[in-house]
Amino acid sequence: MSKLYRRFDALQAVRKAETTLTARNGSGILDMNIAKIFGENCLSMDTLKERLPKSVWKILKKTIRDNAPLDFEVADAVAVVMKEWATEKGATHYTHWFQPLTGATAEKHDSFITPNQGGGAMTQFSGNDLMRGEPDASSFPSGGLRPTFEARGYTAWDPTSPAFIIENGRGSTLCIPTVFASWKGESLDFKTPLLRSVESLNKQAMRALKLFGEEDLKWVNATGGFEQEYFLIDQEYFYRRPDLMTSGRTLFGAKPPKGQELDDHYFGSIPDRILSFMLEVERELYRLGVPVKTRHNEVAPSQYEFAPVFEKANVAADHQQLTMIMLKKIARKYGLVCLLHEKPFAGLNGSGKHANWSMVTSRGANLLEPGDSPHDNMQFLFFFTAALKALHDHQGLLRASIASAGNDHRLGANEAPPAVISAYIGEQLDDIVEQLKSGKAKTSKEGGLLGLGIPVLPTIPKHAGDRNRTSPFAFTGNKFEFRAVGSEQSVSFPFAILNTAVAGAIDEMTSALEAEIENGKDLEAALGVVLQKTFSEIDKILFHGDGYSDDWQKEAKKRGLLNLKTTLEALPCLTEKKSVALFEKYSVLSELELEARLEIYLEQYFIKLNIEAETTEDIVRTMIIPATIRYLNEILAVNDRGKSSGLDITSTRTLAEEVNTGLSQLIVAVAKLGRVNEDLGGDTIPEKAQHLAQVVLPEMNKVRELADKLEKIVPDDFWPLPSYREMLFVK
Ligand code: ADP
Ligand code: MG
Repeated sequence: MSKLYRRFDALQAVRKAETTLTARNGSGILDMNIAKIFGENCLSMDTLKERLPKSVWKILKKTIRDNAPLDFEVADAVAVVMKEWATEKGATHYTHWFQPLTGATAEKHDSFITPNQGGGAMTQFSGNDLMRGEPDASSFPSGGLRPTFEARGYTAWDPTSPAFIIENGRGSTLCIPTVFASWKGESLDFKTPLLRSVESLNKQAMRALKLFGEEDLKWVNATGGFEQEYFLIDQEYFYRRPDLMTSGRTLFGAKPPKGQELDDHYFGSIPDRILSFMLEVERELYRLGVPVKTRHNEVAPSQYEFAPVFEKANVAADHQQLTMIMLKKIARKYGLVCLLHEKPFAGLNGSGKHANWSMVTSRGANLLEPGDSPHDNMQFLFFFTAALKALHDHQGLLRASIASAGNDHRLGANEAPPAVISAYIGEQLDDIVEQLKSGKAKTSKEGGLLGLGIPVLPTIPKHAGDRNRTSPFAFTGNKFEFRAVGSEQSVSFPFAILNTAVAGAIDEMTSALEAEIENGKDLEAALGVVLQKTFSEIDKILFHGDGYSDDWQKEAKKRGLLNLKTTLEALPCLTEKKSVALFEKYSVLSELELEARLEIYLEQYFIKLNIEAETTEDIVRTMIIPATIRYLNEILAVNDRGKSSGLDITSTRTLAEEVNTGLSQLIVAVAKLGRVNEDLGGDTIPEKAQHLAQVVLPEMNKVRELADKLEKIVPDDFWPLPSYREMLFVK
């Protein structure tokens, strides 16, 4: 009988993996001729330029560079080129590819087919098809922005992100990046606020740069580079774990004797099957024009990372979504499943997505790069300070931007940044901040800035900024690294918030600078005053110690920094007065759109936890309790037969008692979980979410603890769930 419940064993998994690999992929070297394959499945600006009539290309270029409106004639011409290019690549269908507030991407495919009068058919794709789509979108979350009776939402082409081809062994589809909005124009997606925020950053940064004498720049954009962490496990195990299938994380699992303690996985040599997988992911991403660059093993067993070369924020965010899609898709070809959840395995490191951020000008200058000349350094100090001011002024918003049920497991544990938002800038820059605050720069060998004699501003060392992995927001030489973003999250919202907050800070500081200059100060002296004032207001955000320590929790409280430990504490920041004012001032999100977002995020939180609780109950009732009873039955059989054959069965009896106690406790606990989970805790979404967080989650944790104890007693061949040891060490 026990055989029925015997789960897939490790040996079989390894053997099967090898056969899967060769059967599905054959063997052989992938064509990695980068010059040839890079971007071949992505409609680049170069290809468009080559294929479009010159006059049309000029207008399109203007649209893309300067955000100018696009008319339908131009769109028609682009559509023709796009369709030609896509059909050459084997595409029969197209889809508007968008990013609804579920955090995933969405697509609805339409064929190019148009029947003609003679009874045949041809392919067609118009400017209208390109510019606008109307998916029946009643099932996407809208937070009340779009009642179902007027369920129309529409998608609109985003020409700033290139179209691309998604291949399938049987055919291909043209994907057109689009925004998604209600028919009244309210944003229902992640892309719209990101695009709007880039525009607000552009405006404010350009205004500031004029003061620094930069007259002929065309634009400023945000840049992003995202380090994606993920786990890979054999798919045989995945399908035997209902918890992984429904919630992306293990809701049970006793800690294995060996976890990540030996640090023998981090940067270790990459196992063969995994490396094959990585090579294929890289090849497919190259073909889509995604510049992935770095790959390595991460800290936890079976945890890995990919990082691309940074790009403009909007394109980078789309490419980040494509990276997640490809990781999941290609893993299957290797008999693996890619887990993007923030905490798939308790007791091991979770996965994050370090979001590297900076600003770039149309001339290609990085505004956070300390320069060679004193003038460049003034500019650097201005933008560097603005970013820190943004962080200080909108800590709550940034914390809210990364709040999710999954990320709650990570933030605050001693592996990921704490929930307190602070910045690390390195000792050298910290010293400079001290000099700025005191208004007295140390004289440096170079004799001050701009040859004005006594320096007002200090000189910036090159390559400032070292490492502190415990900080959520670290300056790493020429960019900030926002480390609290979760592995599964869209990077668009954190970036939209960051861009908007920085636009606000630049705005304020530029006005202050203008006022000082009007009062007769030269630029350097004026900047000295503005920086001194700004840093004296915001320096509590700077922290260089151990972010994981208890001392920091106390110190942060003393400094008056926010410490929003959970999603439900963080999310309300979205609709605070200060946040609404910021978003409305820069036309990034309206109050209505913010309220809708708050509701959607709360609802997602609620639904996710609810699924976890129900899955916990199911697994215990239908897998763990039956397995334990079978074991108890076997021990009791020994007891009975032992007695009649005159054996001393005292110890077996003790064992039976131990199993029985564990079993009874589990039965009681799961009954309680069922009861509290049935209760909704209220009628509104916030009430339901609070109920899950405060009542259901603790009961779930209790059930897990009891079940994990049983996993250590019940025989391996009775236990119905693949163990941590198997999932993490079969590669
Ligand atoms: P680190 O070791 O500090 O993490 P890397 O050079 O490996 O530094 O960069 C990590 C990530 O930061 C990469 O994805 C990279 O593309 C990105 N990055 C580098 N410079 C910038 C920048 N100016 N803006 C945004 N992202 C950047
Ligand atoms: Mg990094």
